[in-house]
Amino acid sequence: MLGEQAESRSALEVRARAILQGAGYERIETPAFEATELFARGVGEATDIVRKEMFTFEDAGGRSLTLRPEGTAPVCRAYLEHGMHKRRQPVKLWYLSSFFRHERAQAGRYRQFWQLGAEAIGSDDPAVDAETIVLLSSLLAEVGVRDVRLRLCSLGSPQTRGEYRERLQAHLRSHESSLAPEVRGRIEANPLRAFDSEHEGTRRVMRSAPRLLEHLDAGDRAHFEAVRELLDDAGIAYEIDSTLVRGLDYYTRTVFEFTSDALGAQSGVGGGGRYDGLIELLGGSPTPGVGWAAGIERMLLASGSSGGTLDSERSRDSGTGSAAAPVELFLARAEPRSAADRRTAFALLCAARSAGLRAQMELGGRSLKGQLSHADALGARYVAIVSERQASLRDMQEGRQEEIASDAVVHAVLRGLRTL
Ligand code: AMP
Repeated sequence: MLGEQAESRSALEVRARAILQGAGYERIETPAFEATELFARGVGEATDIVRKEMFTFEDAGGRSLTLRPEGTAPVCRAYLEHGMHKRRQPVKLWYLSSFFRHERAQAGRYRQFWQLGAEAIGSDDPAVDAETIVLLSSLLAEVGVRDVRLRLCSLGSPQTRGEYRERLQAHLRSHESSLAPEVRGRIEANPLRAFDSEHEGTRRVMRSAPRLLEHLDAGDRAHFEAVRELLDDAGIAYEIDSTLVRGLDYYTRTVFEFTSDALGAQSGVGGGGRYDGLIELLGGSPTPGVGWAAGIERMLLASGSSGGTLDSERSRDSGTGSAAAPVELFLARAEPRSAADRRTAFALLCAARSAGLRAQMELGGRSLKGQLSHADALGARYVAIVSERQASLRDMQEGRQEEIASDAVVHAVLRGLRTL
Protein backbone atom coordinates (compact mmCIF):
# COMPACT_ATOMS: atom_id res chain seq x y z
CA MET A 1 0.00 0.00 0.00
CA LEU A 2 1.54 3.22 -1.19
CA GLY A 3 1.22 6.66 0.35
CA GLU A 4 -1.78 7.96 -1.57
CA GLN A 5 -3.68 4.72 -1.10
CA ALA A 6 -2.91 4.79 2.61
CA GLU A 7 -4.40 8.32 2.73
CA SER A 8 -7.57 7.10 1.04
CA ARG A 9 -7.85 4.17 3.40
CA SER A 10 -7.49 6.45 6.42
CA ALA A 11 -10.17 8.77 5.05
CA LEU A 12 -12.47 5.80 4.54
CA GLU A 13 -11.80 4.60 8.06
CA VAL A 14 -12.79 7.98 9.52
CA ARG A 15 -16.09 7.91 7.64
CA ALA A 16 -16.77 4.32 8.61
CA ARG A 17 -16.09 5.09 12.25
CA ALA A 18 -18.48 8.05 12.21
CA ILE A 19 -21.28 5.95 10.69
CA LEU A 20 -20.76 2.78 12.74
CA GLN A 21 -19.99 4.29 16.12
CA GLY A 22 -22.89 6.66 15.62
CA ALA A 23 -25.08 3.56 15.29
CA GLY A 24 -23.70 2.03 18.50
CA TYR A 25 -20.94 -0.21 17.08
CA GLU A 26 -17.73 -0.62 19.07
CA ARG A 27 -14.33 -1.28 17.50
CA ILE A 28 -12.81 -4.74 17.92
CA GLU A 29 -9.46 -6.10 16.82
CA THR A 30 -8.81 -9.80 16.72
CA PRO A 31 -5.42 -11.49 16.18
CA ALA A 32 -3.99 -11.92 12.68
CA PHE A 33 -4.02 -15.68 13.13
CA GLU A 34 -6.22 -18.16 14.97
CA ALA A 35 -6.35 -21.90 15.57
CA THR A 36 -7.12 -23.51 12.19
CA GLU A 37 -10.01 -25.34 13.85
CA LEU A 38 -11.94 -22.06 14.26
CA PHE A 39 -12.18 -21.53 10.52
CA ALA A 40 -12.59 -25.21 9.66
CA ARG A 41 -15.62 -25.39 11.93
CA GLY A 42 -16.89 -21.83 11.65
CA VAL A 43 -16.47 -21.13 7.94
CA GLY A 44 -17.24 -24.73 6.95
CA GLU A 45 -14.98 -27.60 5.90
CA ALA A 46 -16.51 -27.76 2.44
CA THR A 47 -16.13 -24.09 1.52
CA ASP A 48 -13.52 -22.97 -1.01
CA ILE A 49 -11.94 -20.81 1.66
CA VAL A 50 -11.22 -23.73 3.96
CA ARG A 51 -10.43 -26.23 1.23
CA LYS A 52 -7.87 -24.27 -0.70
CA GLU A 53 -7.62 -20.59 0.20
CA MET A 54 -6.23 -20.58 3.72
CA PHE A 55 -2.65 -19.83 4.67
CA THR A 56 -2.15 -22.54 7.27
CA PHE A 57 1.07 -23.35 9.12
CA GLU A 58 2.33 -25.17 12.17
CA ASP A 59 3.96 -23.29 15.00
CA ALA A 60 6.97 -24.56 16.95
CA GLY A 61 4.66 -26.44 19.30
CA GLY A 62 3.03 -28.34 16.42
CA ARG A 63 -0.28 -26.43 16.61
CA SER A 64 -2.04 -25.71 13.35
CA LEU A 65 -2.61 -21.96 12.89
CA THR A 66 -4.25 -20.02 10.07
CA LEU A 67 -3.96 -16.41 8.95
CA ARG A 68 -7.53 -15.09 9.24
CA PRO A 69 -9.37 -15.40 5.91
CA GLU A 70 -12.46 -13.59 7.22
CA GLY A 71 -13.66 -11.73 10.29
CA THR A 72 -16.94 -13.21 11.49
CA ALA A 73 -15.66 -16.42 13.08
CA PRO A 74 -12.91 -14.56 15.03
CA VAL A 75 -15.42 -11.96 16.26
CA CYS A 76 -17.78 -14.74 17.41
CA ARG A 77 -14.89 -16.49 19.13
CA ALA A 78 -14.09 -13.24 20.95
CA TYR A 79 -17.79 -12.83 21.88
CA LEU A 80 -17.68 -16.26 23.53
CA GLU A 81 -14.26 -15.98 25.09
CA HIS A 82 -15.02 -12.61 26.66
CA GLY A 83 -18.49 -13.50 27.95
CA MET A 84 -20.17 -10.83 25.83
CA HIS A 85 -23.51 -12.63 26.16
CA LYS A 86 -23.67 -10.97 29.60
CA ARG A 87 -23.72 -7.53 28.00
CA ARG A 88 -26.80 -5.79 26.66
CA GLN A 89 -27.84 -7.54 23.44
CA PRO A 90 -27.29 -7.22 20.59
CA VAL A 91 -23.57 -6.60 21.00
CA LYS A 92 -22.51 -4.49 18.01
CA LEU A 93 -18.88 -4.65 16.89
CA TRP A 94 -16.93 -3.32 13.91
CA TYR A 95 -13.45 -3.94 12.61
CA LEU A 96 -11.03 -2.84 9.95
CA SER A 97 -8.33 -5.42 9.47
CA SER A 98 -6.21 -7.24 6.94
CA PHE A 99 -7.26 -10.71 5.75
CA PHE A 100 -5.45 -13.42 3.86
CA ARG A 101 -6.63 -15.81 1.17
CA HIS A 102 -4.53 -17.98 -1.06
CA GLU A 103 -6.23 -17.00 -4.31
CA ARG A 104 -5.07 -16.28 -7.82
CA ALA A 105 -4.16 -12.60 -7.56
CA GLN A 106 -5.75 -10.29 -10.15
CA ALA A 107 -7.23 -6.78 -10.27
CA GLY A 108 -9.38 -6.38 -7.15
CA ARG A 109 -8.38 -9.79 -5.77
CA TYR A 110 -5.33 -10.00 -3.56
CA ARG A 111 -3.77 -12.46 -1.16
CA GLN A 112 -3.65 -9.87 1.55
CA PHE A 113 -6.53 -7.42 1.51
CA TRP A 114 -8.42 -5.19 3.91
CA GLN A 115 -11.98 -5.51 5.03
CA LEU A 116 -14.24 -3.29 7.01
CA GLY A 117 -16.82 -5.35 8.85
CA ALA A 118 -19.72 -5.00 11.25
CA GLU A 119 -21.38 -7.72 13.36
CA ALA A 120 -24.49 -7.47 15.58
CA ILE A 121 -24.70 -10.51 17.83
CA GLY A 122 -27.59 -11.48 20.09
CA SER A 123 -30.82 -10.54 18.31
CA ASP A 124 -32.88 -12.12 15.55
CA ASP A 125 -35.08 -9.06 15.06
CA PRO A 126 -35.45 -8.36 11.32
CA ALA A 127 -34.76 -4.71 12.13
CA VAL A 128 -31.14 -5.67 12.89
CA ASP A 129 -30.77 -7.18 9.41
CA ALA A 130 -32.28 -4.07 7.86
CA GLU A 131 -30.17 -1.76 10.00
CA THR A 132 -26.90 -3.44 9.00
CA ILE A 133 -27.86 -3.29 5.31
CA VAL A 134 -28.80 0.39 5.58
CA LEU A 135 -25.48 1.13 7.32
CA LEU A 136 -23.44 -0.51 4.56
CA SER A 137 -25.53 1.25 1.95
CA SER A 138 -24.90 4.62 3.66
CA LEU A 139 -21.20 3.89 3.88
CA LEU A 140 -20.94 3.02 0.18
CA ALA A 141 -22.80 6.23 -0.68
CA GLU A 142 -20.62 8.28 1.65
CA VAL A 143 -17.44 6.86 0.14
CA GLY A 144 -18.76 7.55 -3.35
CA VAL A 145 -18.85 3.95 -4.60
CA ARG A 146 -20.44 4.19 -8.04
CA ASP A 147 -23.17 2.15 -9.72
CA VAL A 148 -24.06 0.15 -6.64
CA ARG A 149 -26.56 -2.68 -6.76
CA LEU A 150 -27.91 -4.72 -3.88
CA ARG A 151 -29.00 -8.33 -4.19
CA LEU A 152 -30.95 -9.93 -1.40
CA CYS A 153 -32.13 -13.42 -0.56
CA SER A 154 -33.00 -15.67 2.37
CA LEU A 155 -31.36 -19.03 2.96
CA GLY A 156 -33.90 -20.13 5.57
CA SER A 157 -33.01 -22.09 8.67
CA PRO A 158 -30.63 -25.05 8.78
CA GLN A 159 -33.53 -27.50 8.70
CA THR A 160 -35.31 -26.12 5.61
CA ARG A 161 -31.93 -25.62 4.02
CA GLY A 162 -31.08 -29.28 4.70
CA GLU A 163 -34.31 -30.45 3.09
CA TYR A 164 -33.78 -28.14 0.16
CA ARG A 165 -30.20 -29.35 -0.21
CA GLU A 166 -31.42 -32.90 -0.71
CA ARG A 167 -33.87 -31.74 -3.37
CA LEU A 168 -31.11 -29.84 -5.13
CA GLN A 169 -28.70 -32.78 -4.91
CA ALA A 170 -31.33 -35.03 -6.49
CA HIS A 171 -31.74 -32.48 -9.32
CA LEU A 172 -27.96 -32.27 -9.85
CA ARG A 173 -27.52 -36.04 -9.82
CA SER A 174 -30.24 -36.48 -12.39
CA HIS A 175 -28.31 -34.13 -14.73
CA GLU A 176 -24.83 -35.13 -13.68
CA SER A 177 -23.44 -35.64 -17.17
CA SER A 178 -24.15 -32.00 -18.14
CA LEU A 179 -22.33 -30.51 -15.16
CA ALA A 180 -18.82 -29.07 -14.95
CA PRO A 181 -16.38 -31.50 -13.26
CA GLU A 182 -15.85 -29.23 -10.23
CA VAL A 183 -19.62 -28.89 -9.74
CA ARG A 184 -19.99 -32.66 -9.98
CA GLY A 185 -17.27 -33.01 -7.35
CA ARG A 186 -19.21 -30.74 -4.99
CA ILE A 187 -22.68 -32.31 -5.22
CA GLU A 188 -22.24 -33.95 -1.83
CA ALA A 189 -20.26 -31.28 -0.03
CA ASN A 190 -21.63 -27.99 -1.32
CA PRO A 191 -24.35 -28.30 -3.97
CA LEU A 192 -25.49 -24.67 -3.56
CA ARG A 193 -22.30 -23.45 -5.15
CA ALA A 194 -23.52 -24.89 -8.46
CA PHE A 195 -25.50 -21.63 -8.82
CA ASP A 196 -22.19 -19.72 -9.03
CA SER A 197 -20.82 -21.73 -11.95
CA GLU A 198 -20.03 -19.99 -15.24
CA HIS A 199 -20.03 -23.34 -17.08
CA GLU A 200 -22.64 -23.35 -19.86
CA GLY A 201 -24.00 -26.88 -19.26
CA THR A 202 -24.21 -26.26 -15.52
CA ARG A 203 -26.04 -22.97 -16.05
CA ARG A 204 -28.62 -24.74 -18.20
CA VAL A 205 -29.18 -27.36 -15.49
CA MET A 206 -29.47 -24.64 -12.84
CA ARG A 207 -32.19 -22.78 -14.73
CA SER A 208 -34.63 -25.57 -13.89
CA ALA A 209 -33.21 -26.26 -10.42
CA PRO A 210 -35.48 -25.89 -7.38
CA ARG A 211 -35.04 -22.54 -5.60
CA LEU A 212 -34.59 -22.28 -1.87
CA LEU A 213 -36.81 -19.19 -1.60
CA GLU A 214 -39.78 -21.27 -2.71
CA HIS A 215 -39.18 -23.74 0.10
CA LEU A 216 -38.82 -21.48 3.13
CA ASP A 217 -40.92 -22.33 6.18
CA ALA A 218 -43.49 -19.86 7.54
CA GLY A 219 -41.16 -18.36 10.19
CA ASP A 220 -38.33 -17.74 7.75
CA ARG A 221 -40.71 -16.36 5.14
CA ALA A 222 -42.21 -13.91 7.67
CA HIS A 223 -38.70 -12.85 8.77
CA PHE A 224 -37.65 -12.21 5.18
CA GLU A 225 -40.83 -10.27 4.42
CA ALA A 226 -40.23 -8.09 7.48
CA VAL A 227 -36.65 -7.34 6.36
CA ARG A 228 -37.92 -6.42 2.91
CA GLU A 229 -40.62 -4.13 4.24
CA LEU A 230 -38.14 -2.28 6.43
CA LEU A 231 -35.76 -1.82 3.49
CA ASP A 232 -38.64 -0.63 1.30
CA ASP A 233 -39.63 1.90 3.97
CA ALA A 234 -36.02 3.07 4.18
CA GLY A 235 -35.96 3.62 0.40
CA ILE A 236 -33.24 1.02 -0.23
CA ALA A 237 -33.47 -0.47 -3.72
CA TYR A 238 -32.65 -4.17 -4.08
CA GLU A 239 -33.18 -7.14 -6.32
CA ILE A 240 -34.29 -10.49 -4.98
CA ASP A 241 -31.82 -13.02 -6.29
CA SER A 242 -32.78 -16.56 -5.44
CA THR A 243 -29.42 -17.82 -6.68
CA LEU A 244 -27.45 -15.72 -4.21
CA VAL A 245 -25.31 -18.10 -2.23
CA ARG A 246 -22.48 -16.74 -0.23
CA GLY A 247 -19.21 -18.66 -0.11
CA LEU A 248 -19.40 -19.36 3.62
CA ASP A 249 -21.43 -22.13 5.22
CA TYR A 250 -22.61 -20.35 8.32
CA TYR A 251 -25.32 -18.17 6.82
CA THR A 252 -29.01 -18.58 7.72
CA ARG A 253 -32.00 -16.48 6.67
CA THR A 254 -30.97 -13.08 5.22
CA VAL A 255 -28.02 -12.91 2.83
CA PHE A 256 -27.06 -9.90 0.71
CA GLU A 257 -24.39 -8.61 -1.56
CA PHE A 258 -23.57 -5.15 -2.86
CA THR A 259 -21.89 -5.04 -6.25
CA SER A 260 -20.56 -2.13 -8.24
CA ASP A 261 -20.83 -2.02 -12.02
CA ALA A 262 -17.79 0.27 -11.92
CA LEU A 263 -15.66 -2.80 -11.11
CA GLY A 264 -14.69 -5.52 -13.57
CA ALA A 265 -15.09 -9.23 -13.00
CA GLN A 266 -14.58 -8.88 -9.25
CA SER A 267 -17.72 -6.80 -8.79
CA GLY A 268 -18.54 -7.62 -5.15
CA VAL A 269 -17.84 -4.67 -2.88
CA GLY A 270 -19.37 -6.02 0.28
CA GLY A 271 -21.85 -8.50 1.58
CA GLY A 272 -22.98 -10.54 4.49
CA GLY A 273 -25.98 -12.00 6.20
CA ARG A 274 -27.39 -13.69 9.22
CA TYR A 275 -25.55 -16.54 10.96
CA ASP A 276 -27.89 -17.76 13.68
CA GLY A 277 -26.14 -21.11 14.09
CA LEU A 278 -22.53 -19.99 14.24
CA ILE A 279 -22.06 -19.18 17.93
CA GLU A 280 -23.53 -22.56 18.87
CA LEU A 281 -21.27 -24.29 16.38
CA LEU A 282 -18.32 -22.63 18.12
CA GLY A 283 -19.39 -24.00 21.49
CA GLY A 284 -21.73 -21.28 22.82
CA SER A 285 -25.43 -21.41 23.52
CA PRO A 286 -27.70 -20.71 20.55
CA THR A 287 -27.24 -17.01 19.75
CA PRO A 288 -28.34 -15.23 16.59
CA GLY A 289 -26.09 -12.81 14.72
CA VAL A 290 -25.92 -10.79 11.53
CA GLY A 291 -23.15 -8.85 9.84
CA TRP A 292 -21.22 -7.88 6.73
CA ALA A 293 -17.76 -7.25 5.40
CA ALA A 294 -16.74 -4.87 2.65
CA GLY A 295 -13.42 -4.83 0.82
CA ILE A 296 -11.45 -1.61 1.31
CA GLU A 297 -9.48 -1.91 -1.96
CA ARG A 298 -12.67 -2.60 -3.93
CA MET A 299 -14.56 0.29 -2.33
CA LEU A 300 -11.73 2.64 -3.22
CA LEU A 301 -11.45 1.23 -6.76
CA ALA A 302 -15.20 1.59 -7.29
CA SER A 303 -15.18 5.16 -6.04
CA GLY A 304 -12.22 6.07 -8.24
CA SER A 305 -10.23 6.85 -5.09
CA SER A 306 -7.50 4.25 -5.05
CA GLY A 307 -5.03 6.94 -6.03
CA GLY A 308 -5.78 9.00 -2.98
CA THR A 309 -8.69 11.11 -4.20
CA LEU A 310 -11.02 10.24 -1.35
CA ASP A 311 -11.06 13.68 0.12
CA SER A 312 -9.53 13.57 3.56
CA GLU A 313 -10.78 17.13 4.26
CA ARG A 314 -14.39 16.05 3.85
CA SER A 315 -13.78 13.04 6.03
CA ARG A 316 -12.93 15.00 9.15
CA ASP A 317 -14.59 13.31 12.07
CA SER A 318 -17.48 15.55 12.97
CA GLY A 319 -17.46 14.24 16.51
CA THR A 320 -20.89 12.70 16.09
CA GLY A 321 -19.28 9.29 15.80
CA SER A 322 -17.51 9.12 19.12
CA ALA A 323 -18.33 5.88 20.96
CA ALA A 324 -18.70 7.84 24.17
CA ALA A 325 -21.13 10.38 22.71
CA PRO A 326 -24.57 9.77 24.25
CA VAL A 327 -27.55 8.82 22.14
CA GLU A 328 -29.86 11.73 21.35
CA LEU A 329 -32.95 9.70 20.50
CA PHE A 330 -33.78 6.15 21.53
CA LEU A 331 -36.75 4.55 19.81
CA ALA A 332 -38.51 2.21 22.19
CA ARG A 333 -41.41 0.00 21.18
CA ALA A 334 -44.79 0.22 22.90
CA GLU A 335 -46.39 -2.93 24.24
CA PRO A 336 -47.92 -5.10 22.90
CA ARG A 337 -45.55 -5.05 19.95
CA SER A 338 -46.56 -5.45 16.35
CA ALA A 339 -44.86 -5.59 12.98
CA ALA A 340 -46.43 -2.17 12.29
CA ASP A 341 -44.72 -0.44 15.22
CA ARG A 342 -41.40 -2.03 14.20
CA ARG A 343 -41.81 -0.42 10.79
CA THR A 344 -42.63 2.94 12.33
CA ALA A 345 -39.66 2.79 14.73
CA PHE A 346 -37.27 1.72 11.96
CA ALA A 347 -38.46 4.47 9.61
CA LEU A 348 -37.93 6.97 12.45
CA LEU A 349 -34.46 5.55 13.10
CA CYS A 350 -33.46 6.10 9.47
CA ALA A 351 -35.05 9.57 9.38
CA ALA A 352 -33.34 10.59 12.63
CA ARG A 353 -29.93 9.47 11.38
CA SER A 354 -30.44 11.22 8.04
CA ALA A 355 -31.19 14.38 10.03
CA GLY A 356 -27.84 13.98 11.77
CA LEU A 357 -29.11 12.68 15.13
CA ARG A 358 -27.36 9.94 17.07
CA ALA A 359 -30.28 7.55 17.20
CA GLN A 360 -30.76 3.96 18.25
CA MET A 361 -33.71 1.64 18.27
CA GLU A 362 -34.77 -1.23 20.50
CA LEU A 363 -33.45 -4.45 18.92
CA GLY A 364 -33.22 -6.78 21.87
CA GLY A 365 -36.76 -7.90 22.76
CA ARG A 366 -36.75 -6.10 26.14
CA SER A 367 -39.83 -5.20 28.20
CA LEU A 368 -40.78 -1.52 28.24
CA LYS A 369 -39.06 -1.13 31.60
CA GLY A 370 -35.97 -2.90 30.23
CA GLN A 371 -36.00 -0.62 27.18
CA LEU A 372 -36.07 2.48 29.36
CA SER A 373 -33.16 1.30 31.47
CA HIS A 374 -31.27 0.40 28.27
CA ALA A 375 -31.94 3.92 26.95
CA ASP A 376 -30.69 5.29 30.24
CA ALA A 377 -27.49 3.25 30.00
CA LEU A 378 -26.93 4.71 26.51
CA GLY A 379 -27.34 8.18 28.00
CA ALA A 380 -30.33 8.87 25.75
CA ARG A 381 -31.60 12.43 25.97
CA TYR A 382 -34.98 11.61 24.36
CA VAL A 383 -36.89 8.36 24.31
CA ALA A 384 -39.83 7.91 21.95
CA ILE A 385 -42.10 5.01 22.86
CA VAL A 386 -43.46 4.25 19.44
CA SER A 387 -46.68 2.58 18.39
CA GLU A 388 -47.82 2.57 14.78
CA ARG A 389 -48.97 6.20 14.51
CA GLN A 390 -48.51 7.71 17.94
CA ALA A 391 -45.47 8.16 20.13
CA SER A 392 -44.86 9.23 23.71
CA LEU A 393 -41.81 11.43 23.58
CA ARG A 394 -39.92 11.63 26.86
CA ASP A 395 -37.32 14.21 27.63
CA MET A 396 -35.16 12.16 30.00
CA GLN A 397 -33.37 15.21 31.35
CA GLU A 398 -36.39 17.36 32.08
CA GLY A 399 -38.69 14.46 32.94
CA ARG A 400 -41.39 15.79 30.55
CA GLN A 401 -43.48 13.54 28.34
CA GLU A 402 -45.77 14.46 25.44
CA GLU A 403 -48.02 12.44 23.15
CA ILE A 404 -47.36 13.28 19.51
CA ALA A 405 -47.87 11.82 16.04
CA SER A 406 -44.99 9.45 15.37
CA ASP A 407 -44.01 11.28 12.19
CA ALA A 408 -43.44 14.43 14.28
CA VAL A 409 -40.84 12.79 16.56
CA VAL A 410 -37.65 13.69 14.69
CA HIS A 411 -38.72 17.30 14.27
CA ALA A 412 -39.64 17.58 17.96
CA VAL A 413 -36.26 16.21 19.04
CA LEU A 414 -34.36 18.54 16.70
CA ARG A 415 -36.37 21.47 18.06
CA GLY A 416 -35.79 20.36 21.65
CA LEU A 417 -32.02 19.98 21.18
CA ARG A 418 -31.73 23.37 19.51
CA THR A 419 -33.34 25.12 22.47
CA LEU A 420 -30.83 23.72 24.95
P1 AMP B 1 -16.37 -12.27 1.51
O1 AMP B 1 -15.79 -12.36 2.89
O2 AMP B 1 -15.80 -13.28 0.57
O3 AMP B 1 -17.85 -12.19 1.51
O4 AMP B 1 -15.87 -10.87 0.93
C1 AMP B 1 -16.37 -9.63 1.35
C2 AMP B 1 -15.72 -8.53 0.54
O5 AMP B 1 -14.31 -8.54 0.75
C3 AMP B 1 -15.88 -8.70 -0.96
O6 AMP B 1 -17.09 -8.13 -1.40
C4 AMP B 1 -14.68 -7.95 -1.48
O7 AMP B 1 -14.95 -6.57 -1.52
C5 AMP B 1 -13.63 -8.20 -0.44
N1 AMP B 1 -12.72 -9.31 -0.81
C6 AMP B 1 -12.91 -10.65 -0.63
N2 AMP B 1 -11.84 -11.35 -1.07
C7 AMP B 1 -10.96 -10.43 -1.52
C8 AMP B 1 -9.64 -10.52 -2.10
N3 AMP B 1 -9.02 -11.69 -2.27
N4 AMP B 1 -9.03 -9.35 -2.45
C9 AMP B 1 -9.63 -8.16 -2.28
N5 AMP B 1 -10.85 -8.02 -1.75
C10 AMP B 1 -11.52 -9.14 -1.37
